[in-house]
Amino acid sequence: MNVIIGAGISGLTIGYLLHKKNEDYIIFEREEPGGWCRTYEINKFRFDAGGHFFHSMDESIESLIGDIGVDMHRVERRAFVYWNKSLISYPIQSNIAQFNFNERFFASFSYIFRSRKTPENLKEFFMTKTGRFLCDRFLYGYNKKMWGKNPEKLPPYFLGRYFPETSLFAPRKQTGYNPVFFYPSQGIGEVIKGFLKKGVRIKKGNLEKVGEGKVRVGGRWIRYRNLYLTIPLPEIIKISPFLKEFREYPFDYVGMKILLLGVKGKLINNAHWIYFAQDNLPFTRVGSFTNISKEMSPGGYSSIWIEVPVRNKIPEDRSIIDAIKSTGLLRGKVLFTRSLHFPYAYPIRDDVTDMVVKEIEGILKRRGIYLSGRFARWEYNTMSDSIKRGMELV
Ligand SMILES: Cc1cc2nc3c(=O)[nH]c(=O)nc-3n(C[C@H](O)[C@H](O)[C@H](O)COP(=O)(O)OP(=O)(O)OC[C@H]3O[C@@H](n4cnc5c(N)ncnc54)[C@H](O)[C@@H]3O)c2cc1C
Repeated sequence: MNVIIGAGISGLTIGYLLHKKNEDYIIFEREEPGGWCRTYEINKFRFDAGGHFFHSMDESIESLIGDIGVDMHRVERRAFVYWNKSLISYPIQSNIAQFNFNERFFASFSYIFRSRKTPENLKEFFMTKTGRFLCDRFLYGYNKKMWGKNPEKLPPYFLGRYFPETSLFAPRKQTGYNPVFFYPSQGIGEVIKGFLKKGVRIKKGNLEKVGEGKVRVGGRWIRYRNLYLTIPLPEIIKISPFLKEFREYPFDYVGMKILLLGVKGKLINNAHWIYFAQDNLPFTRVGSFTNISKEMSPGGYSSIWIEVPVRNKIPEDRSIIDAIKSTGLLRGKVLFTRSLHFPYAYPIRDDVTDMVVKEIEGILKRRGIYLSGRFARWEYNTMSDSIKRGMELV
């Protein structure tokens, strides 16, 4: 029997591909299916757990999404950065041309005379990519808030493909990793529903222990031939006796509170989302699902999401709402809120963690156990990466 733990996009992809091949399998999920890709329907408003968009649609992803009957719409990104009480198009380093004269001068000057040394940490990476001005005025603060630690303490290259290049002149087309993206009209949860409509089998159950050839789920031992784990790696280590030696390893990560707001009114500029670096504002990103797809809320209303990174203390809803109101960017009346908290949102990788994860994957593979997805493989990945890993495994 193939046993899959977790019915997020990773577990469902594996389940679906095994289902199509008529193989024996079962998925265990302790909550509702979907994980980070659930769409929440509240009072005729639809919300995802933060912004979830397909950044690219290559042939393999397009074919799987088509197979499960989901229609994706191509959307041109309208994203901004909150800058001096106004908005600059995202990514800021490609839109220096939108600054005022003084800022343009300092940004250009510091870019031209930027450091050329090989960066040893994330701050130095920004200094070599954009120069000091943008590093000090946006990137440092944004990333400090996002990762809950000073960028000097973070590895240099871990933003990798997500970091857009700097340009001193107005770009002719949008830049960055998601200038256009793909999104179903009723939320990312349509992908989850697509798998379920195909008959993928899920049972409610919490994984409690991983043994050799068997797992304990909801108090019952179940034998497996192949075991696919999509739950966070630190949780896997806690319940796997053969990974005991890694129990003390300090996996670093950031959790997230997502505050969902049903609003009579809208987010200004028809913005899809806005990034915030200011340390007096607890969030890093605020977005409007309605500005992306009209089907996400009734007419005249908006489904708004707010992403608040969490290291220690979880900020109160009230302080988050007051903070967004203080910016003047959200026009209208908040009708209701729903707060979601995810202990694992952004796994942090460095060279040592890379080696540890590789070693763990080796130990597990010898026992017919495979890791898949963002949290099991401990990588800063996308939904497409999760799907592709499932394809590779099956
Ligand atoms: C804020 C944020 C924004 C993002 N935006 C994008 C984006 O725009 N585009 C993009 O491509 N990607 C985005 N991602 C990445 C994307 O969310 C992930 O790649 C993907 O959702 C990972 O899916 P998964 O199935 O691996 O994990 P999960 O979605 O976490 O699924 C794991 C499942 O396992 C279940 N589970 C956990 N423990 C147990 C247990 N003991 N027993 C049984 N079940 C258990 C959980 O309930 C969950 O349903 C974003 C991520 C975050 C955090």
